[in-house]
Parts: sequence; structure tokens; C-alpha cells
Amino acid sequence: MTAPPGAPWSVGLTGGIGSGKSTVARMLADLGASIIDADQAARDLTSPGGRALPAIAQSFGPEFIDASGAMDRQRMRQLAFSQPEARQRLEAIIHPLVAQATEEQAQAARAAGKPLLVFDIPLLVESRHWPRKLDAVVVVDCPEETQIVRVMARNALERGAIEGIIASQASRQARRAAADAILYNDGLSLESLRNQVRALAARFGL
Ligand code: ADP
Repeated sequence: MTAPPGAPWSVGLTGGIGSGKSTVARMLADLGASIIDADQAARDLTSPGGRALPAIAQSFGPEFIDASGAMDRQRMRQLAFSQPEARQRLEAIIHPLVAQATEEQAQAARAAGKPLLVFDIPLLVESRHWPRKLDAVVVVDCPEETQIVRVMARNALERGAIEGIIASQASRQARRAAADAILYNDGLSLESLRNQVRALAARFGL
């Protein structure tokens, strides 16, 4: 973890599904951090008018754009699921554009004098791009059983489906190994979590 010279801290925030990452991001936003959401940026790129759409139409065919002008997510999901090559081709289009869009958001936040930039990146540990851009990585961690119980309550998904998502993400161990700071979010109230987030944010100039 390296304090940036003069500039605001750029901190990566990650965690497995149901770890409490979004909850922590909201708490950091309440404290004045600027949250830059990589997943949201990716969704915007494939929404009507999104920057990724011309390349998607060219590479996959116009049938992958739906009547609203957005990427046909259902169709793309089916293709990407059955053909790893298609998934890689989509990622090669999306990833550089996500990097560009989030960098623009970061520049705007810096220009606005925000003291802390938090990059909310679900797949930070899986990525080769992100770690190089960040001053520190914060991991929200909890046991898998807690992830499962939370997501079952939040999304009404079956246990097996959630276990599948967890298995497809980086392991808890890999995530913890990449962390400069760990917020252990199990068996504590939202108020206690907020106190821990406040203490952590103070280390990053908030
Ligand atoms: P993620 O973004 O990591 O998938 P969320 O932040 O959405 O996870 O949290 C998953 C669910 O668990 C949400 O409904 C959230 O309110 C709840 N939750 C997270 N942490 C706590 C906690 N410490 N106490 C109570 N509920 C929590």
C-alpha cells in the first residue's frame, strides 16, 4: 500500500457475492468518497447508446442488439456460456472500454477535489489490469455460508446457484492474499461495520 503523492488515494474495493461489498461502498460514499463502479460502467456500455454497441454489432452481428438498442443480454449470455471463445471476444471489447470509462470518472472526481476514490470492482483479484492502477486493495470478507444465507435472502436464488457463482469467483484465500486491508463482515451489526469502515477510511485521508 503506497500513499499517493498529493493526489487522492485510489482504493480498490472487492469481495465475493454477498460479502457486503455494496454495503461498504455505500458507507464510504456517505463519508465523502467517490465510488467508481466497474460493473455499472460495463452495464452502461451495453445499454442503449452505449459505447460498446458498435463493436458488438460488428463482431457478433446485429442480432445481438435488441429492439431498444441495447445488447441482447440473454442471447449474449447463452452464447458466452456455450462458447468460451465468444466470451473472450466480448471481454476484449468491454474491458478496455470499462478502463476508459472508469478513468474518465476518476479524472472528474479528482477535478472535483474528492479526497478518496473507491473503485468498486467485483473481479479485482481475477483482473490483470486493476491492481496496477490502485494504491491499496480493501477486501470485504466473510465465510461462504454467510455469503449464501445473505444472497438467498436478497435475491431469492437457490443455494446451488449461489454456490456455483461463488465457485466461479476467486477463492476467499486468493482475495485475502491480495488485500492491503480486510473488513471482516460476519456476526457484526451494520453499525459496527460502519465504525470499522470509518476507521479504515481515516487511513485513506477521509
Ligand atoms: P455484495 O455487494 O457483496 O454482494 P451486499 O452489500 O449487497 O453484498 O450485502 C448482501 C446483503 O447482506 C444485503 O442485503 C446487506 O444488507 C446484508 N448485509 C451485509 N452486511 C451485513 C451486516 N453486517 N449485517 C446485516 N446485514 C448485512
